[in-house]
Amino acid sequence: MAEPTRRAILVAAAATSAGALVPLGASHAEAAAPLAGTQAPGFYRYRIGDFEVTAVTDGAVTSPLAENYVVNVKRQEVSAALAAANRPADTVTVPYTPIVVNTGAKLVVIDTGQGEAAFERLKGAAGQFQRNLVAAGIDRNVVDAVVISHFHGDHVNGLLTADNRPAFPNAEILVPRIEWAFWMDDGEMSRAPAGRMQDLFRNNRRVFDALGRKVTPYDWDRDVVPGIEAVGTPGHSPGHTSYVIASSAGRVFVQSDVTNIPVLFARNPGWHAAADQDPQRAEATRRRVYDMIVAEKMPVQGFHYPFPGLAHLEKAGDGYRETLVPWNPTI
Ligand SMILES: [Zn+2]
Repeated sequence: MAEPTRRAILVAAAATSAGALVPLGASHAEAAAPLAGTQAPGFYRYRIGDFEVTAVTDGAVTSPLAENYVVNVKRQEVSAALAAANRPADTVTVPYTPIVVNTGAKLVVIDTGQGEAAFERLKGAAGQFQRNLVAAGIDRNVVDAVVISHFHGDHVNGLLTADNRPAFPNAEILVPRIEWAFWMDDGEMSRAPAGRMQDLFRNNRRVFDALGRKVTPYDWDRDVVPGIEAVGTPGHSPGHTSYVIASSAGRVFVQSDVTNIPVLFARNPGWHAAADQDPQRAEATRRRVYDMIVAEKMPVQGFHYPFPGLAHLEKAGDGYRETLVPWNPTI
């Protein structure tokens, strides 16, 4: 008889010790699956008439609730509204959802998120737009147009790659004419208060200088791309723009930042967010636009709404309540 090999002895020993751990009656070992540890890619499709819209998440950033997050309401009241919405009372989580519209003739991106450069700094919480475009099967090189709603970092920074090259190299960059005139004006920059406003002026020069200032300004009340009408919704910034996407009988109102997160600012349209440049005008716009959306029963796509950002609105007291559309497994 041959000597048992070393391998045979080890296999026999393993079988014995494993056997000792198998409960009586168990017929096979049950291995635990490893935890994924990361979120799944986020994109969601729906149709507006003959158009296909893909909402693509850029992520969401959680920050401590600042004393002046809402400038005309005490922090305590904002905390209570967050708690009433089953959110942590001392932090605010703001999602970012750019959309991609395929009109059949053009592939159009509306707003661009925090930018790839922010991904590392934010530990992957935001700056995800480009990754999720890839997951959605959308090639940034074939995007025909990028439409910018306003010149805040969470909307324009994604125009650049992490190494400051054009993120959509073959796209026409369309910007609101009023926004372009305001933010690129050296006189306005010189009069801007130090801090956030100065930082915004500097950031816009950083982004648009990297693009060689090659943009096409657009005007309100006309189509920026056929089927996508620019609607002036000023206040949050001077040239802040929303859109009506219309195809056949389908319509959706892309509100941009008419409100920030709806649990605070749709419920309380009189609350003035610190980021609203002209708070009175922003509030007037908010009430006018939301009354119109409710009256016309138009669905709304909200940049800072919970992903995927598509909702219906109704009046609720002095404010409005959003109902997010349920996931649709087909389009
Ligand atoms: Zn924003």
